[in-house]
Amino acid sequence: MTFFHVDTVPVATGTVSVAFTDRRLDLGDLAADDVRAAGLAEVAAATGATPYLMHQVHGTAVHVVTGPDGAFPDADALVTAEAGVALLARAADCVPVLLVADDGRIAAVHAGREGVRRGVVPATLAALGRVPVRAWVGPHICGGCYEVPEEMRAEVAAAVPATHASTTWGTPALDLGAGVLAQLAEAGVPATEVGGCTREDDTLHSHRRDGAAAGRLAGVVWRHP
Ligand SMILES: [Zn+2]
Repeated sequence: MTFFHVDTVPVATGTVSVAFTDRRLDLGDLAADDVRAAGLAEVAAATGATPYLMHQVHGTAVHVVTGPDGAFPDADALVTAEAGVALLARAADCVPVLLVADDGRIAAVHAGREGVRRGVVPATLAALGRVPVRAWVGPHICGGCYEVPEEMRAEVAAAVPATHASTTWGTPALDLGAGVLAQLAEAGVPATEVGGCTREDDTLHSHRRDGAAAGRLAGVVWRHP
């Protein structure tokens, strides 16, 4: 099983699938070359599409993919109208968000603390334009686990109030998932939540739990030819 969750939905140009990997694959840049290559080969086999990765930099840049060109752009969102390309947003506590527009365009978004604060999801929705969109919000660290300094909580919550949270042990925290859901709701985009808290569920990759060597899971979206 390559994915722990798959949904397939109709669009104007056919069908689109959205899926999420778990700890059985490590798709991160720190994975050994053969481990990551094996994971990407599994994704390619399961989707029948060419995996497309981005070099995630905690920004709001949206890269438009016009085909499986092998580029590795600095971006936190990928958008395409093409079939045969599987867009990946990789994460280990950050929020992988997959978007499907009714016209058949798809997007994969990496929304970490900076991405939520700076609005990478709204930026991607703006790039998709005025067309009905559905969203899938993948596994991420929950607000009860994601401890941050008080001033960091204040800074992010000033931009996205829904992120304001406290840990289960009573210290300042951020709820990135709530922030993404609020941004989607503000844009009128219905969202499906998939998976649990990455830190608490050891079938998922977590930077907070596993440290700097943590692997990466992925949200994957592709349109069937
Ligand atoms: Zn948690």
